[in-house]
Amino acid sequence: MQTAVMVGEKPKVASRIAQALGNYSVEENRGVKNYVLEKNGKKIIIAPAVGHIFNLEEHEEGWDYPVFEVQWEPIFENEDGADYVKKYYNNLRDQLDKADEYINACDFDLEGSVIGANVIKQLANADEGRIKRMKFSTLTPDDLNEAFDDLEDFDKGMTEAGLTRHVLDFYYGVNVSRALMQAVRENDRYKTLSTGRVQGPSLKMLADKERSIIEFEPDPYWEIFLHHSEFRAKFQDPEADHEKNDRIWEEEIAEGIFDQVQDEDEAEVSNIKVNNYKHNPPIPFNLTGLQSEASSQFNINPKTTQSIAQTLYENGLISYPRTESQKLPKKLGYSNLLKKLKGQEEYEGLAQKVLDKDDIYPRQGKKEDDAHPAIYPTGESPGSLSKKERKVYDLIVKRFLAVFGDAAKRQSLTLTLDVRGYEFNAKSKITKERNWFNLYDPYVNVEEAELPGVEEGEVLDIEEFELADKETKPPRRYSQSSIVNELEKRELGTKATRAQIVDRLYDREYIEGDPIEVTDLGLAIVETLEDHSPAVVSEELTREFEEKMEAIREEKNSREEVIEEAKEELTETLSKFKEKEKEIGRELVDTIDQERKRKRQLGPCDQCEDGTLRMIKSSGSRFVGCSNYPDCENSFPLPNNGDISKTDETCDECNTPKIQVYREKSSNYKMCIDPDCPTKDDW
Ligand SMILES: [Zn+2]
Ligand SMILES: [Zn+2]
Repeated sequence: MQTAVMVGEKPKVASRIAQALGNYSVEENRGVKNYVLEKNGKKIIIAPAVGHIFNLEEHEEGWDYPVFEVQWEPIFENEDGADYVKKYYNNLRDQLDKADEYINACDFDLEGSVIGANVIKQLANADEGRIKRMKFSTLTPDDLNEAFDDLEDFDKGMTEAGLTRHVLDFYYGVNVSRALMQAVRENDRYKTLSTGRVQGPSLKMLADKERSIIEFEPDPYWEIFLHHSEFRAKFQDPEADHEKNDRIWEEEIAEGIFDQVQDEDEAEVSNIKVNNYKHNPPIPFNLTGLQSEASSQFNINPKTTQSIAQTLYENGLISYPRTESQKLPKKLGYSNLLKKLKGQEEYEGLAQKVLDKDDIYPRQGKKEDDAHPAIYPTGESPGSLSKKERKVYDLIVKRFLAVFGDAAKRQSLTLTLDVRGYEFNAKSKITKERNWFNLYDPYVNVEEAELPGVEEGEVLDIEEFELADKETKPPRRYSQSSIVNELEKRELGTKATRAQIVDRLYDREYIEGDPIEVTDLGLAIVETLEDHSPAVVSEELTREFEEKMEAIREEKNSREEVIEEAKEELTETLSKFKEKEKEIGRELVDTIDQERKRKRQLGPCDQCEDGTLRMIKSSGSRFVGCSNYPDCENSFPLPNNGDISKTDETCDECNTPKIQVYREKSSNYKMCIDPDCPTKDDW
């Protein structure tokens, strides 16, 4: 009998596949479980990988750049903490040895193609004719059996594109990061800096926003409000040609109008405008959509959402989450999924509502993905879930249900009030028929404001008028929720990597907070790269390479050709950078020093005129001291365990600055620095 060895992406996935395919026995080898069964006249051995078994390493270690000579090596040979991979590596080698045929059953995307192909090619030296690809979007028995019966040929395009991506990411990431760090070293400092093929343009995008905020100069304007006991209306100038015709740009004009109306106590309803409109149901989630919604609904960051979704997928509860698609194809069998969901008590009623419809068809989004549909629940009943997993799962189920709903019917109402010939508008929006809202509760986010029932010509009592002076606001910062959307819109990164990129920018201290603020260091990195290697922060270049990888996937371009182009491009960029290394480093070092200083400064000293309190580390102990030392001897102790960082808060009781303390095992907390503060009475 022929033997086919199937590589699963992770141990848990391998076990799920085995359970789906039928009667199996477990054969343990080197501490790793393999699943053995007979199917379609073949012996099948399912052996697990554990994510990437190989990664790219340069031939020779060192600090020099550029490096272009790279090779795939077992990950445990070059990465700290990757020892656990060794037994999987050895087991895979043992199992692949028995194979007549190979099946790559890793996740169906570029990463999965690379993981499986690397294992099969590096360990078994298998030729592509004997490699099959298993394609599935959920880990449910039906889908897995269908995928197994329908094995596809070796996915050359995807594998080559995936391999190319790794090489390009290495080239840009390692070389440019090294260039930055080397520039700093030339100035006798050390700091972990990095950038990357996608990280660079992403940081630049954030920096552009930050700079537009810094450069922003607010313009003053005025608004006049009319207060009625149940609502307020705003002055508007129907003649004004600008869009915001409720803003008055000259103080004198605003005051003139206000003077004329302020003593009035009545207003006549001069017009009522009713507009009935539809509010369409939402579109199915792709990963970015899910990350964005989870961030705004639950304040769960995109990276966490991604890993939760991955867990839900591995437990067979949802379809493959790393998808770009916003479409749910008909072949998924909508009714079947809904019936399965109905089996879960909390969704019984909602699923039935959808099943009762004459036409069960979802609203579809525009984005597509060749490999996977939009994210949907499999209907399998979840066992115990963590709190966050439960939230994300519920959101996915409700979104899936909502896309089948009918458009909600909404109504907007605009009342125009006349006061001495001036117009004041009050607006409201209400829901007439909730429809899909009922399926998506409690995640519906629409404005509901009612106005009293009035008729045209009616005269209303006014409580008072208000003249408000305001100013235009700077552009809004990106939030954790909007940033992944923006990256997707600009086609930067892939669905799988966007959250990681943002996370990396935080780690490097290029950005902080949410909404996201770019630090001086982040700005300095972007400016340095813009000046000395603009290609590295160019969105166009990044997108161009994405297109080339897409062409490789479609087998219209070759890996070698694209890699060669990247090499040339980088060689040119980096040689220019190298010439000015020291000078570039000097600018960076200045910023790094200032940032370090800023992070240590807690605020003004409470004991002297112009001193600043700073966190100081000296001979193993930490304390807060004044910048005017020795003239000012003000000081406070700092906890000696855990990481500490400044906050922008001060204590309500003692008025000293608060610091954040991070504890390894117990929870993090904030405290003020005065040990005698009343807030610490019961410590
Ligand atoms: Zn002082
Ligand atoms: Zn205090």
